[in-house]
Amino acid sequence: MKASKTSSARSSRAKAPATNGTTASIELPPWVREPKRLLINGKWVDAASGETFATLDPSTGETLCHVPAGDKQDIDKAVAAARAAFESGPWRTMTSSERGRAIWRLADLLEQHIDEFATLESLDNGKPRAVARVADVPLAIDLFRYMAGWATKLHGSTFPISVPYAPGARFFSYTQREPIGVVGQIIPWNFPLLMAAWKLGPALATGCTVVLKPAEQTPLSALRLGELIQQAGIPDGVVNIVTGLGETAGAALAGHPGVDKIAFTGSTEVGKLIVKAAAHDLKKVSLELGGKSPNIILPDADLETAIPGAASAIFFNHGQCCCAGSRLYVHTKHFDTVVEGVAAAAKKIKVGPGMSADTEMGPLVSEEQLNRVMGLLKSGQAEGAKPLAGGARHGKSGYFVQPTILVNTQPGMRVMEEEIFGPVVCAVPYTDEQEVIQAANNNIYGLAAAVWTSNLSKAHQIASAIRAGTVWVNCYNIFDAALPFGGYKQSGWGREMGAEALELYTETKSVCIRL
Ligand code: ADP
Repeated sequence: MKASKTSSARSSRAKAPATNGTTASIELPPWVREPKRLLINGKWVDAASGETFATLDPSTGETLCHVPAGDKQDIDKAVAAARAAFESGPWRTMTSSERGRAIWRLADLLEQHIDEFATLESLDNGKPRAVARVADVPLAIDLFRYMAGWATKLHGSTFPISVPYAPGARFFSYTQREPIGVVGQIIPWNFPLLMAAWKLGPALATGCTVVLKPAEQTPLSALRLGELIQQAGIPDGVVNIVTGLGETAGAALAGHPGVDKIAFTGSTEVGKLIVKAAAHDLKKVSLELGGKSPNIILPDADLETAIPGAASAIFFNHGQCCCAGSRLYVHTKHFDTVVEGVAAAAKKIKVGPGMSADTEMGPLVSEEQLNRVMGLLKSGQAEGAKPLAGGARHGKSGYFVQPTILVNTQPGMRVMEEEIFGPVVCAVPYTDEQEVIQAANNNIYGLAAAVWTSNLSKAHQIASAIRAGTVWVNCYNIFDAALPFGGYKQSGWGREMGAEALELYTETKSVCIRL
């Protein structure tokens, strides 16, 4: 994810709402109009400071509602609640089967409210409601179900040990996996509910307790999820939710001495701040960060699938995906056909408010994101890059950007090196396979990549040569709760999802008994 600070409009505290207090153009679900509070120790409370900030509708820039601006004082209370829930109370004594069933109940409740959550995601983030309905929310439900199953399957091993300096002695040795403790989870705005699920699922399955800080741009679905967490019977204090700004609430959580581990998803820039904040007491840290993912089309690729695949790799979620296929390498044999195809696809995309039924691409999340993406587009074009489609803002209000394909780029240009986090792909021709692998790997990031080919052997060879945590072959953006996701290089530490995520939330204890 790209590096940025909070948009001033979004971070302004107690910002004066629009005349009716909410965005004028759409019918809001009643829940949005209700007062928003922090979830601390099972109680819904105002921020200690009494401050709030506005969350906006990115398709208009108008206020949806206000949420509490939690800060250090609230984080202190939330961490104390999570600590108490970890050390005593029902979560500690619940069987793993009971814990798994509570997580499963949460998934069931989410499923019962799937339409409402799709609406919240669309309103707050700007993404098409239809996409949230088929992707974000079902993936979150599935993640909780997958992790519910793991609760009963976290086991250690036994070991035949020899101990050379204790001849004749006999021992029984085993390991057990224990929850790491109180976890601070800081999540981004591009998939607000799904990122909450990726974080909460493994934490709950392993018996940890949590303080969750949603992104200030998109706090709504996490707060609503908090209500379902309570309904699911997850005990008070196990999940605490503090909305607030990154520099205040986020920083207080990352540096809190009462937190055993920080799990962060966001920009590489902020990831480095998290590591620094966590270093003084050596908390465990896991990070899922930015990317600049190469998408390689080989000469033998099936263009019928590769062209729409390349378009969807960058334009899905408006390019606001850490794994967006933003560097498109196409063999010269097909370069013109592919770039024309992707440009045609870009021009056809219906850009509009996420809540409109025919919208295929919504606005970027914030004015700050809009300015950042427009700044990069300007810099690319000033350096000689040429848009075959897009290249400009869409409309005059809201934070919309035209789906864009750039050609005539050169290595070293900002648009080729930096994560744009918008619907902008740089298409680059190549002739030599080794050179393209080198170019693909020549970036600070290593989150994801794809290769399009009909040659099975080449698919495996390139998958192996690319330095990235995920390589898709003849597909893109395929996610599953069972499949680990995370980055090489500056794209992060550790893996989300799959059994690997559980490693990040458990400590291994070796027990040795003299017989
Ligand atoms: P983006 O640049 O895409 O907005 P960020 O990395 O800035 O992503 O934000 C991701 C999450 O990190 C958000 O929840 C944000 O509030 C939080 N955050 C931002 N700055 C800090 C910080 N200094 N310390 C802790 N969390 C932060």
